[in-house]
Amino acid sequence: RSQQRLDRFLSHASPFSRKEVRRLLHASRVTVNGEVVKKSDRQVDPEQDIVELDGQRCHLARPRYLMLHKPYGVVCANTDGEHPTVMDLLDNPEGLSVAGRLDLDTTGLVLLSDDGDWIHRIISPRRSCQKTYLATLDGKPDQSVIDQFASGIMLRSEKHPTAPASLAVIGQDETGTDYQVEVTLIEGRYHQVKRMFAACGLKVLKLHRLRIGHVVLDSELQEGQSRYLSEQEVSDVF
Ligand code: URA
Repeated sequence: RSQQRLDRFLSHASPFSRKEVRRLLHASRVTVNGEVVKKSDRQVDPEQDIVELDGQRCHLARPRYLMLHKPYGVVCANTDGEHPTVMDLLDNPEGLSVAGRLDLDTTGLVLLSDDGDWIHRIISPRRSCQKTYLATLDGKPDQSVIDQFASGIMLRSEKHPTAPASLAVIGQDETGTDYQVEVTLIEGRYHQVKRMFAACGLKVLKLHRLRIGHVVLDSELQEGQSRYLSEQEVSDVF
């Protein structure tokens, strides 16, 4: 699907809207491979054809892919009246969306992009992209909890049980009463980790996302810091 309409291409490769692009075409300001083109439905191949506006070559902006170490108390939303948002932490948040939100009190890996297809592949339950969390619990999950996670849990007011999830006990934390576990899900329902443990009688005291697909939160990133993903990481997500 490399061919696309000229007006569509230009609306992505210039600051102009589709409507404005049509006017520019009509005014003979656009050339394709050196020839003036006025028809907005002319098919172009963004890789092959040279499209120029007023003699300037137009390129599609490359999509951006970032990871952010989300701090506690920051919301995964574009705007919020009360709390700072993940967008406030970025230098240039224009056009970016979050691939799977974390709760206000959850920390860790958040992926962001302006590539809607890529985001969809991360969050679509049908794609089974794994998300791994480190959770601190108020008690030790026994084998029956591990089994329930593996077989699926019917959460209150939901129609379908959760997809199989893996749960591994890592150990007790320094308090001696709280337990640390690693949970891997392939879904992202509302408050899912907390609700799954609540259904088993356990409370999540702390939650931190470590990994999405094969992309691991960079240990060099302090809370609130972000960086671009490498090309390898962009494809490693799946
Ligand atoms: N599950 C939760 O309960 N909260 C999150 O932020 C992520 C997964």
